[in-house]
Amino acid sequence: MAHQWRGVLAEYRDHLPFSDTDALLSLGEGGTPLVPAPALSSAVGADVHIKVEGQNPTGSFKDRGMASAMSKALNDGASTVVCASTGNTSASAAAYAATAGLTCVVLLPQGKIAAGKLAQAVVHGAKLVQVEGNFDDCLEIARKLHAEHPVELVNSVNPHRLQGQKTAAFEVCDALGRAPDIHILPVGNAGNISAYWMGYQEYRDAGVTAQLPAMWGFQAERAAPFVAGRPIPDPETVATAIRIGAPASWNLAVAARDDSGGLIDAVSDEQILDAQKRLAADVGIFVEPASAAGVAGLLQQAGHGRVPEDATITVTVTGNGLKDIDTALSQHDLTPTVIEADIAAAAQAMGL
Ligand SMILES: *Cc1c(COP(=O)(O)O)cnc(C)c1O
Repeated sequence: MAHQWRGVLAEYRDHLPFSDTDALLSLGEGGTPLVPAPALSSAVGADVHIKVEGQNPTGSFKDRGMASAMSKALNDGASTVVCASTGNTSASAAAYAATAGLTCVVLLPQGKIAAGKLAQAVVHGAKLVQVEGNFDDCLEIARKLHAEHPVELVNSVNPHRLQGQKTAAFEVCDALGRAPDIHILPVGNAGNISAYWMGYQEYRDAGVTAQLPAMWGFQAERAAPFVAGRPIPDPETVATAIRIGAPASWNLAVAARDDSGGLIDAVSDEQILDAQKRLAADVGIFVEPASAAGVAGLLQQAGHGRVPEDATITVTVTGNGLKDIDTALSQHDLTPTVIEADIAAAAQAMGL
């Protein structure tokens, strides 16, 4: 019998706030692989699995929440959606607005968007507005537009975003047959750590799983408001997707950290880029810089002796490396070995 993955809303309908008559949008999001990472497991002395969210339709986990938020907007009769974005939210919003037949406006901070993400918003037909300010300024404008005009806001302050995003925690449990001991992920606006925690709790409460993981979040050193305990006015980091100084889901993320017995710590840009390289070269997964913050944090905590031996650890890598090739290529020597069109020269170049 024909069957394919139907997207997160249909697959997890029983756990989501949609009625039988609601239209459910999908571009096939979710169902992403949980890949064992032997290289990381031996490096930290635990059983490490990577949740590869770069395999979503627009290349980041944002598609889970966007399927949900855009479906809600459509069912409510909206005609225009707006979002602030460091890039991935706009890529996802543009794609889901396209399939929903809605108009999408994205507010982008000046000069900080990876080229791949910008291309996605453009090709999917979003209207791009560049704001002379940072992400936090963009989000404030988007919220006010939503308050004062008939436009739906699809940032993660929209609770339907977290509803869709929590399905990633369900998938982790379904794949492992249990909840992990520790779940690690990057933290920017903090919607995702909040959504995972919600998902893990709901599965435990429904009796699907018996336990809850500790939630470990990692921010970039110069964009680490949770570590500082207050908003950061001018966040800076090479990991543009987590270059956020005033996280919208502040209270939810603090609850996820504290109620799970977890932590939110910071890693340097150097650690992030190093983790990005190790994921690509040792594990075989190419992620964008922000996505590597979780692995950077795992390695950092292992260095401090804080990773429990043989723990089952899942790490979400949030977005695809192809979105931001400029940063990745800047870390490598691109000078090719040039030879004549000749087999002997090729053999010699290969050291044969
Ligand atoms: C949005 C995003 C994040 C941060 O997620 P939050 O929910 O804002 O904490 C991390 N990595 C990537 C690739 C993202 O697109």
